[in-house]
Amino acid sequence: MRPDLQGVPVYRPGRPSGETEQLSALASNENPYPPLPSVVDAIRGAAEQAHRYPEMTSATLGHAVADHLDVPVDDVVLGPGSVGVLQALVTAMTGPGDEVVFAWRSFEAYPIVTRVAGATPVAVPLTPDGRHDVAGLAAAVTPRSRLVLVCSPNNPTGPVLTADELAWLIDQVPDDLLVVVDEAYVEFVRDPAAADGLAAYRRRGNVAVLRTFSKAYGLAGLRVGYGIAHDPVATALRTTSLPFGVSAPAQAAATVSLRHTDELEQRVDTVVAERERVVAALAGVGWQVPDSQANFVWLGAGAATAELAAAFRQAGLAVRAFEGDGDHSGVRLTIGTPDDNDRALEVATTWLAGARPDST
Ligand code: PMP
Repeated sequence: MRPDLQGVPVYRPGRPSGETEQLSALASNENPYPPLPSVVDAIRGAAEQAHRYPEMTSATLGHAVADHLDVPVDDVVLGPGSVGVLQALVTAMTGPGDEVVFAWRSFEAYPIVTRVAGATPVAVPLTPDGRHDVAGLAAAVTPRSRLVLVCSPNNPTGPVLTADELAWLIDQVPDDLLVVVDEAYVEFVRDPAAADGLAAYRRRGNVAVLRTFSKAYGLAGLRVGYGIAHDPVATALRTTSLPFGVSAPAQAAATVSLRHTDELEQRVDTVVAERERVVAALAGVGWQVPDSQANFVWLGAGAATAELAAAFRQAGLAVRAFEGDGDHSGVRLTIGTPDDNDRALEVATTWLAGARPDST
């Protein structure tokens, strides 16, 4: 084993296997709605051809994504979830001695894929309200930096980078440093001031975007996501991507999903409306929730994080606890069905009332 892999953090899934079958799944930022019937049909059709390999580079889906986003097909690279694309990207761009700069806390996988590539993670703390500290990120860039990763909206806290913040950051970094905008939750964004990673990619050769079918499109179980990047990054990404990395059912489901964006957008609108309702209700009872533009909300609970997560679990709700970060610890609550959200609000309300020193 490579000695430098000692101590690489293990990816912690929101929902540990076997633990939570009876609990409502509010731990992994999944879509509460099952796939559309036409998508299930496509998956079934692909299942009947499971003795055949899929298209190696997911070319049909690549063309559909390129049409959907109006980008050149050569700039689209599919992979097994956007985390698969991210790993291929970091592997393509970095190695021992190189640095990858990102905000923290942010997506769990950033330090892992960096260490797997042999590179060094440089984590820049979020601001107290859970936002990217763009000045801190720019200041962390050194001649060894190869990549800056930004997550908008940020998992697990929820806020976006603004368009101004992203533009400023891109202006600060050298032209040969790649800025990657992870937009796993972009479909849930309603803030008009939010950064648009795709617009930044169109303007600058050193900007790449990551997106996924796991969240808004509700295909987390199939594992399909993509990167949008200019050459030579796109070519390098193809080099490090796993051959046949996206299964045939995943390719078929994603391709059909792109034909039904109206229906899927309605579902996303419902989740967004529920998010607004949950955030307003939480604020109403005294929670200070960061401005989430994603399908989850952050409940800062400090040292009481494990206790709060246990309260949710007792109420039949699996949530993701982020412990061990001192004051920055907390619980990430995925927006689920209205019924699940009602139950979650009840837990959060009761818990805060009990936890408040002035109410005891
Ligand atoms: N980026 C972010 C910010 C995420 O939260 C996730 C999933 N938790 C991913 C990427 C990866 O998603 P997937 O691999 O399912 O596309």
